[in-house]
Amino acid sequence: MDQDLVIVGGSYAAAQVAASARSAGFAAPIRMISAELDLPYQRPPLSKGFLLGKVDAKALPIRHEAFYRDNGIDMILGTAVASIDRAGRSVTTAAGNRIGYGQLVLAVGARPRLPPVPGIDLDGVLVLRTLADAVHLRDRLPAVTTAVVIGGGFIGLEVASVLAMLGKTVTVLEAEDRLLGRGAGASLADYVMAVHRARGVDIRLRTMASRLEGEGGRVRSVVTSDGSTIPADLVVVGIGVVPQTALAEASGLACSGGIDVDRFARTADPTVFAIGDCSWHPGAFARRSLRLESVQHAQDQAKAAGATIAGRPTPYDAVPWFWSDQYDVKLQMVGLIHGATHHAVRGAAAGGRFSVFYWHDDRLVAIESVNRPAEHMMGRRLLASGTTVSPAEAADEGFDLAARIAPKSGAPPPA
Ligand SMILES: Cc1cc2nc3c(=O)[nH]c(=O)nc-3n(C[C@H](O)[C@H](O)[C@H](O)COP(=O)(O)OP(=O)(O)OC[C@H]3O[C@@H](n4cnc5c(N)ncnc54)[C@H](O)[C@@H]3O)c2cc1C
Repeated sequence: MDQDLVIVGGSYAAAQVAASARSAGFAAPIRMISAELDLPYQRPPLSKGFLLGKVDAKALPIRHEAFYRDNGIDMILGTAVASIDRAGRSVTTAAGNRIGYGQLVLAVGARPRLPPVPGIDLDGVLVLRTLADAVHLRDRLPAVTTAVVIGGGFIGLEVASVLAMLGKTVTVLEAEDRLLGRGAGASLADYVMAVHRARGVDIRLRTMASRLEGEGGRVRSVVTSDGSTIPADLVVVGIGVVPQTALAEASGLACSGGIDVDRFARTADPTVFAIGDCSWHPGAFARRSLRLESVQHAQDQAKAAGATIAGRPTPYDAVPWFWSDQYDVKLQMVGLIHGATHHAVRGAAAGGRFSVFYWHDDRLVAIESVNRPAEHMMGRRLLASGTTVSPAEAADEGFDLAARIAPKSGAPPPA
């Protein structure tokens, strides 16, 4: 028990840290305690192929059950951890069972944020985070004619695209003056808005839900901040998530924008780690502390933590990347646009295939690509190698981006 690794959580970060600790030679018992009933599964399809009926639940597990069995990872599912006793090195489940640890990983993720408006608890008002949420939403769709999506971020827009593809009348309410305010630049957001509008989605910017009205306990309409009433037999809320910090805070761990950790994903208590959506970490690429919500981040930070737990301290320094699928549009982002000072477009939005390059002063900090997967992969290499190109070069489709990347040998890049 002195050596045991206990992981609280059961998703990307949890599955990866267990795998990475084992592959780095961690030999003591590993226990994964997850509030969910399912083995760790992929969340991205929940707002895409699964909701459309194109991806089956059987295809969702991140790893097969045999992986956990063969690697001696004890899966304790359907069990919430209620408290941590750091002095006694143990966690206690909601059912009162005490489980000791040598090292503890908090991979507890985030939960959907809900707007504090009247009617939010009506039947037919849903969020989308878990497989159970997705099944609930998917099962209701045949009876839905008109839907309102609250929030024009990635998840809200993915759900809106599925609803539109299924022939529903869809309205998206976005409080800000553009879509994707937290996740993407204005050029990409404008393009995405045009795509949705061309599919008949009614996007209302600078508009919030003031209250939800129902009949017999079921939602029937949304009253907006400008006084309009929009009929709705389904309301999906996608206004972001809140990191699950309560356990950590109650145990005395510092939490600022999430659970505070260092480059090794370690909290101030060297036996406790926090990874994935819940962690507030020093971003090597971002050059500031931040919290990220993506599969890439959860898995890459978990890899670093897993190696560190196994006795091979490994800092987390990956370049962030993310993707979103809406209709037949593949959006891929690498880097972070926060603080960007200027940008250049490669290709044309009118053709539906283009990339937007962003700089902070002279440093290339992000590339957003629309239906240009090869350019996205190239962008990952550019940013990972710290290579920059000028705005004129980026905008010139004849300019060979690959030729600029410094070879791994350390030889200088071509002039
Ligand atoms: C619908 C949807 C679509 C998405 N699409 C994309 C995409 O296209 N691309 C992308 O990169 N990312 C996407 N994401 C985000 C991505 O899924 C998350 O960033 C990722 O799941 C984070 O993994 P995590 O392990 O940190 O946390 P989570 O996935 O949030 O998992 C946390 C786990 O911890 C468990 N837990 C919490 N508290 C306790 C407790 N006290 N005791 C026991 N267990 C607990 C939870 O039940 C949960 O299983 C999407 C997310 C959603 C919901």
